[in-house]
Amino acid sequence: MARIAVVTGGSRGIGEAISLALKDMGATVVANYCGNDEKAREFTARTGIPAYKWDVGDHQACLDSCAQIAEEVGPIDIVVNNAGITRDGTLARMQYCDWDDVMRVNLGGCFNMAKATFPGMVERGWGRIVNIGSINGQAGQYGQVNYAAAKSGIHGFTKALAQEGAKKGVTVNAIAPGYIDTDMVAAVPAPVLEKIVAKIPVGRLGHAEEIARGVAFLCSEDAGFVTGSTMSINGGQHMY
Ligand code: NDP
Repeated sequence: MARIAVVTGGSRGIGEAISLALKDMGATVVANYCGNDEKAREFTARTGIPAYKWDVGDHQACLDSCAQIAEEVGPIDIVVNNAGITRDGTLARMQYCDWDDVMRVNLGGCFNMAKATFPGMVERGWGRIVNIGSINGQAGQYGQVNYAAAKSGIHGFTKALAQEGAKKGVTVNAIAPGYIDTDMVAAVPAPVLEKIVAKIPVGRLGHAEEIARGVAFLCSEDAGFVTGSTMSINGGQHMY
């Protein structure tokens, strides 16, 4: 039977590419989104992948929506925690709400989705969780203390939960993308982006599909021995 996968923020950007890659792999995919109804409708019409609307930063909404998906589609085998936001600014300008929103969605979302799905995976003896971190969680970035802290937290969260799942058939991994050509990066001012691209050894932004292929591998049967790891897909930037 096909594995059932939930991709948060799965209806556009990197998440859209992940939803499609998992579908191509034979999974039954459900995409989550939060605000952009029009894009979600267009995505579902084009791909046939249903889109469920909820805020991953809302703990109860994650529990309720995952229970609804389990009832309507089936038990969730694969979760890709991809939903993420930025609220950039130097510390002097950053407000508490900018810190809180980013922590709540980017890091809190991973906890909320794990609470909703990890116990079922353990019970059934098979599961895959992939958390989307960031190069800026590994290296830090000017004007992103909130985002860098949340993404860095994802890497610790991944390693800790991987230890809980290791003997139960549940793997937990992270991917740390470099700069990828999506709406999120389109929001970076052009002169800043030019400087960023100049520092990428491969000499260009990444494509969402290049992240999605890594996610698909980590979610596959073949990746059962890969857990607690972070795959950096960044065009050679920040090598270590
Ligand atoms: P986009 O801004 O293009 O898309 C973000 C997605 O997340 C959208 O689908 C959005 O839903 C969803 N989302 C936002 N907030 C919530 C929420 N509270 N609940 C549920 N869904 C939500 O981002 P990218 O595709 O660029 O990024 C995807 C992930 O990759 C993020 O975690 C990001 O931090 C990470 N990343 C991106 C990089 C890049 O260069 N683009 C680099 C490194 C990491 P909706 O459509 O409804 O708005």
